[in-house]
Amino acid sequence: MPAGRDLPTIAISAPDADPRPGLSGVRSDALVAWAESLHVPPYRARQIADFHWGRHAGAAAEMHTLPASVRAALERDFQVDTLADTVVRPADGGLTEKALHRLGDGRLVESVLMRYPSRGRRRERTTVCISSQAGCAVGCPFCATGELGFGRDLSVAEIVDQVRFWARRVTEEGRRITNVVFMGMGEPLLNADAVVEAAYALTDPLRFGLGARHVTLSTSGVVPGIERLTALRPAWTLAVSLHAARGGLRDVLVPLNRRYPVTDVVDAASAYADATGRRVSYEYVMIDGINDTPADADAVSALLRGRLAHVNLIPMNPVAHTAWRPSTPARVATFADVLRLSGVPVTVRRNRGEEIGAACGQLAAEQAGEPASEAVRRRRDRLEREGAASLSRRP
Ligand code: SF4
Repeated sequence: MPAGRDLPTIAISAPDADPRPGLSGVRSDALVAWAESLHVPPYRARQIADFHWGRHAGAAAEMHTLPASVRAALERDFQVDTLADTVVRPADGGLTEKALHRLGDGRLVESVLMRYPSRGRRRERTTVCISSQAGCAVGCPFCATGELGFGRDLSVAEIVDQVRFWARRVTEEGRRITNVVFMGMGEPLLNADAVVEAAYALTDPLRFGLGARHVTLSTSGVVPGIERLTALRPAWTLAVSLHAARGGLRDVLVPLNRRYPVTDVVDAASAYADATGRRVSYEYVMIDGINDTPADADAVSALLRGRLAHVNLIPMNPVAHTAWRPSTPARVATFADVLRLSGVPVTVRRNRGEEIGAACGQLAAEQAGEPASEAVRRRRDRLEREGAASLSRRP
């Protein structure tokens, strides 16, 4: 393609040191148009797609059945892989692995692979948890990413390439990726254009080809984003990071609650469930003595009773910048019982990979260096003060 001509990519970009768009963000018809612009037969575009999506190629050089001239044009016009210098840390006896990826502008993002062996009638699963932003503006105090602050939105290709990275890795062990969850760094619905397009790329039979029901989009409660998803009526699962049902406490644990109150969030999520027939998952990180009291369990029951909802209770992953600790198993069990008795379906999840810093953003925070310690201390003190005050209030 002549230099300076517009590339046939979708109009979503991120400020990247490399001006070439990522190949994973290019739709199939756009790739064919690119090939035609070079007078390359359309079947070459299909070959490129086979290498890219079927074999998860990391460079044009791996596409060995292409003529050298097409490989060179591909490298000139696209980034075949937008991630570099990936470092992987294993945990859980190899069942969990966490990756730290470097983006083109040097920023760091994380993704996690979780292998679940088959159990009873349940088939083996291989789930990837991916990031949608470098850092996060929401600032949940129990989250290492929130402590990093916001960096930038990821592009479609940067999101999808996290999945391709793991697909390449597990192919060697005869596995394939069965599930993708957008629960890594960032608030997905604050980067909705790229996230929705990435979810389409992952579920497009001509591209990554995952079943739509095997993709989960999570949000801490961006109501307009949930409404936008509802209008699209996809078969993706919606997960809401709930973490508190009492408004005052949720203002502290999920600061976005001050903008979008929890009742509005749950109403919007219920509209999604009604429109799609898909049960909404509510994620609840359990923090000892903060959001695991009987009053909190009653508030969650009152909020979700009678809705198409399922609650996942997850003991908090300890992070360095807060003294908060995970709830004890006994407190988690009591909380779950209250929900069950009120007819709200609930599952107690176990934390994966604590020893590798599985809390999202933890590895990136380590690599980026600690934020200014004085500012962190002040913020932590304020959060714990507000958390204690809110705990003493009734809903
Ligand atoms: S928990 Fe999610 S929404 Fe909250 S700060 Fe962390 S990445 Fe952002």
